[in-house]
Amino acid sequence: MKELIAKLQETQTLAKAEWITLLSQRTPDLTEELFERACRVRIQHYGKNVYIRGLIEFTNYCRNDCYYCGIRKSNRNISRYRLSCEEILSCCHEGYELGFRTFVLQGGEDPWFTDQRMAHLITLIKEHYPDCAVTLSIGEKEEASYRLFREAGADRYLLRHETFHPAHYRHLHPQELSASHRQQCLFTLRNLGFQVGSGFMVGSPGQTPEYLAEDMLFLKKLNPHMVGIGPFVPHHDTPFAQEQAGTLELTLYLLGLLRLMLPKALLPATTALGALSENGQQLGILAGANVIMPNLSPLQNRALYSLYDNKPNTGTQAAENLAQLCEKMNQIGYKIVTDRGDSLVY
Ligand code: SAH
Repeated sequence: MKELIAKLQETQTLAKAEWITLLSQRTPDLTEELFERACRVRIQHYGKNVYIRGLIEFTNYCRNDCYYCGIRKSNRNISRYRLSCEEILSCCHEGYELGFRTFVLQGGEDPWFTDQRMAHLITLIKEHYPDCAVTLSIGEKEEASYRLFREAGADRYLLRHETFHPAHYRHLHPQELSASHRQQCLFTLRNLGFQVGSGFMVGSPGQTPEYLAEDMLFLKKLNPHMVGIGPFVPHHDTPFAQEQAGTLELTLYLLGLLRLMLPKALLPATTALGALSENGQQLGILAGANVIMPNLSPLQNRALYSLYDNKPNTGTQAAENLAQLCEKMNQIGYKIVTDRGDSLVY
């Protein structure tokens, strides 16, 4: 098994059967070996720098009905909000003062934010903060919309493929959404010159080592600049309320594997990882991650962007507590940097 890890590091790829073996026969010994290698590779490319992104969750209206997600349209039990342009700019202002040089605009698929409104918003942010990167995470759109966003100045786009396998995708999403369309969007975004982030939930209902192996093969083929993975965590008002959460261990293991497969990728230690354990994000960094995305949304809205239960938005997950996060990174020998943190392969 250790030979497989060595082979992955050397060739940055594996066959499907080899992935399945690695994913289904995880041991503490193997994990330790993996994290050591992953950290070495990450240090080789990025040193001990940890990049930060200010996450602005600007709308929780959504026209989609993903079975896992707490802001799905069928959930009538949450109050909905959308931030005004002024509120979003004020988040950016606060973030800029704190040292953030990337703003991530994430939201449900909210028709109120038409392409024109989005383009206007992006233009304004880039005018005010020309030295900052703007990342969008607003789901599946037509190529013309993505092009408009790019022309308005958006630099990056996060769109997790969620799961590669069509039947598994169908298990997680309603009929009108498809794995192939989502994947197509990712290639379109790449071709338009975005730095692209994909990814998936770990331990989502019905996930198997075989499906995860296919996720790894898909990511190898897409070769994205960023990969966001985090454990699935159930939300009480969704069809998956009674399902088991994904584990910290498997998420960390996958982060290590991703670091070896895509050595120069930007890999966030995600909020959901922090939801499973107080030290989740520190452990994520020690498994090979190099990005953290603290919450920069207005305080009164944070709890309403409830993708899953007990989603953290205080402590080191809150942008205003950046000093605390710096301290936590220092504790493990890493350093938060104020830098756009662009992809090395871009
Ligand atoms: N509407 C945007 C943003 C979605 S929210 C889009 O479609 O891309 C961002 C990510 O949160 C999703 O891609 C999904 O992987 C994750 N997420 C949603 N519900 C979750 C849950 N219950 N547990 C863990 N992660 C979840």
